[in-house]
Amino acid sequence: MGTKGLVFNVQGYSVHDGPGIRTIVFLKGCPLGCQWCSNPESQNPNEEVGFNPARCLGLAKCQMCLKGCPYGAIVADDKGADYPTIKRSLCQKCPDYACRKACPAGALVVYGDFLEPLEVIKRVEKDEVFFQRGGGGLTVSGGEPLNQPDFLLDLLSLAHKRRLKTALETSGFGSYEVLKAAARVVENILYDVKVISRAKHLAGTGQDNELILDNLKRLTADFPKLSILVRTPVVPGFNDTSKDAQELGQFLRALPNVTFEALPYHRFGEGKYGFLGRTYPLAGLTLDPKALEDFNRLTLAARNL
Ligand code: SF4
Ligand code: SF4
Repeated sequence: MGTKGLVFNVQGYSVHDGPGIRTIVFLKGCPLGCQWCSNPESQNPNEEVGFNPARCLGLAKCQMCLKGCPYGAIVADDKGADYPTIKRSLCQKCPDYACRKACPAGALVVYGDFLEPLEVIKRVEKDEVFFQRGGGGLTVSGGEPLNQPDFLLDLLSLAHKRRLKTALETSGFGSYEVLKAAARVVENILYDVKVISRAKHLAGTGQDNELILDNLKRLTADFPKLSILVRTPVVPGFNDTSKDAQELGQFLRALPNVTFEALPYHRFGEGKYGFLGRTYPLAGLTLDPKALEDFNRLTLAARNL
């Protein structure tokens, strides 16, 4: 037994989120609202129903979901499309998710399952054979994992007891005490710093970055030997100027025990916004690969001055 956590995905064979080959456990719920978020299903801290129209057989052939929902939350599209619409205000997240069960095509999905730490660890351990090379293991990501503190710490402690190597991927927007407790049992921390400008951070994520930057400074001071990789997604028009890179480099200069990586902005998650009845805020945006190189170079140059 243990505190249950709301998990929206367990994804094996990742090579980008910590050393070696990792299995990523994604926790649902995030206090930030980054406009470029590639996992929109991670943001809401509750279970959600998603609808993928590409899988739907069409209302002319099938109306199982309309008949299956006991609350009338699934209706025909009012613009005449041959597929249903979810009226989210009516959805009661009924215990067995009747819509998901009713759909013969897998077009209706539920994001979020309440799982115990042991259930999650057993899923992760199925991938153990991949962890042996390169020091792979479990990475807990989100959403923001610090947002589910009891489950996060139970999960990491159990993984530690079972000799799994662990990493935490965090935005740093959470309680320092939870971050510190997690840092005691993980081998690696992947820490997102979006931008140094407070005004830009607020505009792009909906939150101030003071807590994030303070938590990182405290973490590096308290755990000078812990492997901490600071990562910055380079988003065109948000944080890709030379001033942003220089400010970031200057901030990192005071943190000699962290490494740094600039990540390319991408739109892989764009389709999932539609599944949730939302519109992707940055439609049409692309990143020039040279902008990523320049950002990386300028950040490291400012850091090493
Ligand atoms: S979860 Fe239940 S209430 Fe919500 S849309 Fe599906 S069937 Fe209807
Ligand atoms: S039950 Fe599934 S396949 Fe049938 S109309 Fe609803 S979403 Fe489409």
